[in-house]
Amino acid sequence: MKRVLLWHRNDLRLYDREDLHDAVTAKVQIVPLYCFDLRQFCQTAFGFPKTRSYRAQFLLDSVADLRQSLRQRGSDLVVRLGKPEEIVPQLVKELDLDTVFFQEEVTSEETTIDRAVTNILKAMGVDVKRYWGSTLFHPDQLPFSISSLPEIFTQFRKQVEKNASVNATFSTPNHLSKLPEVNVGDIPTLEMLGVESPQIDDRAVLKFPGGETAGKARVKEYFWERDRLRVYKQTRNGLLGADYSSKFSPWLALGCLSPRYIYEEVQAYEAERVRNDSTYWLVFELLWRDYFRFICAKHGDRIFYRSGLRGLEIPWKQDWERFKLWTQGRTGYPFVDANMRELQLTGFMSNRGRQNVASFLTKNLGIDWRMGAEWFESLLIDYDVCSNWGNWNYTAGVGNDARGFRYFNIPKQAKDYDRDGKYAKHWLPELAKVPGKKVHEVFKLDALELKRYDITRGVDYPNPVVDLLKSANANEKVYNAALERSRFQ
Ligand SMILES: Cc1cc2nc3c(=O)[nH]c(=O)nc-3n(C[C@H](O)[C@H](O)[C@H](O)COP(=O)(O)OP(=O)(O)OC[C@H]3O[C@@H](n4cnc5c(N)ncnc54)[C@H](O)[C@@H]3O)c2cc1C
Repeated sequence: MKRVLLWHRNDLRLYDREDLHDAVTAKVQIVPLYCFDLRQFCQTAFGFPKTRSYRAQFLLDSVADLRQSLRQRGSDLVVRLGKPEEIVPQLVKELDLDTVFFQEEVTSEETTIDRAVTNILKAMGVDVKRYWGSTLFHPDQLPFSISSLPEIFTQFRKQVEKNASVNATFSTPNHLSKLPEVNVGDIPTLEMLGVESPQIDDRAVLKFPGGETAGKARVKEYFWERDRLRVYKQTRNGLLGADYSSKFSPWLALGCLSPRYIYEEVQAYEAERVRNDSTYWLVFELLWRDYFRFICAKHGDRIFYRSGLRGLEIPWKQDWERFKLWTQGRTGYPFVDANMRELQLTGFMSNRGRQNVASFLTKNLGIDWRMGAEWFESLLIDYDVCSNWGNWNYTAGVGNDARGFRYFNIPKQAKDYDRDGKYAKHWLPELAKVPGKKVHEVFKLDALELKRYDITRGVDYPNPVVDLLKSANANEKVYNAALERSRFQ
């Protein structure tokens, strides 16, 4: 019987996978592998831990869940610690495997490894087959080739909505072949990966257990039990609690949830409960996710360049002192600070929060957007290379569809999305005594009020690090000058 190695990467599930479906149909013996690559746990270019505890724990849970599912079906997961370009060929040799299947990635670190693995295997005479399994729309279904993908999201969305369809999910096999004689290996501990244990703050929006089982349970809870999909569009910009948005992102990032599965659940919900602008909007958001992945596939490394996809040479600052205040949630702007502390203490931040803090870093502080993107990469439990770097390009104004200098008006955002100051007070206990309506303007309190609310300005809570309007105006000039220069290049 032929033997296939199923090398799992950011696809930690057993359902909706074409590679597994092909292997089962071909009646070959399947050897599933997950390889913990220590390069994922080293440092980013700016020196932050590349994967902090929240995501590392989520990954460990997800691998354990995958192993459990495989064992329930008569198979198992081989687990190794090391470089895939060494581990995969070793295993192929040890078990005399004929073919290696894996899911395609699009960004440089991942594709460099793909190429290295593929080259070694080809030299060994082993077949390699790549599959695409991360997006809602399969590239073959798109009404354009990746190389002619529209640069503007709205154009992408409209064409896809009109001319493409979503493939049906692949089902989960009930039984799988037994593994050949092999040491399956233990799942490493956080310590072995060089990561500290996460201290989960009770105030976190949700406990995020990793794995396909927990991911599907979250879909069931959010759509069917709590019935939140019907109001998603109205609640999605919330800041507090588990259910203002779906919180599917960590499971999507590691492939525990497939976007096509979510799509089918939305369709079932529309058939059984209600079809409205909210049910549409959840799929609309998944299109953003697709768009950034395809944009990365189209533009390769450019998403990581300081000048971004647009190639805009902005003289960003690398002001570490101010950057530190931003990371610590000590900028003096409660809306920014609350969000940054939530990220630091839980590994999650709402979409509204992410847009605001990214805007503040780049448009008010004028700091190199890549420092922010790496800070997010380090901490986010749902870090997804394409969504993160794509959104940072976009927010910093260096994305492919950047429309000039746009920034978030922080006080207005705070007023619109945290009118009663509940969110700010949730994360900034030092402001507990300030009346809700005044929290976001704490810097305007007079001496008497400060005394009444028990705050020593600059000690308990910092003074604003910049003037919002002046800093935005100054950075707009810098941005426009770069734009002007780019026109003559
Ligand atoms: C600066 C910045 C960095 C970001 N980094 C990441 C990241 O590393 N990983 C990540 O998954 N998302 C990222 N996002 C997008 C978005 O903030 C999160 O996907 C969302 O907050 C996750 O919460 P949710 O699952 O409850 O989202 P929901 O509102 O319930 O949306 C459903 C799903 O749609 C997708 N989605 C929604 N908004 C976006 C978006 N703007 N871009 C791409 N996909 C989207 C996500 O997969 C999400 O799970 C980033 C946004 C910004 C502004």
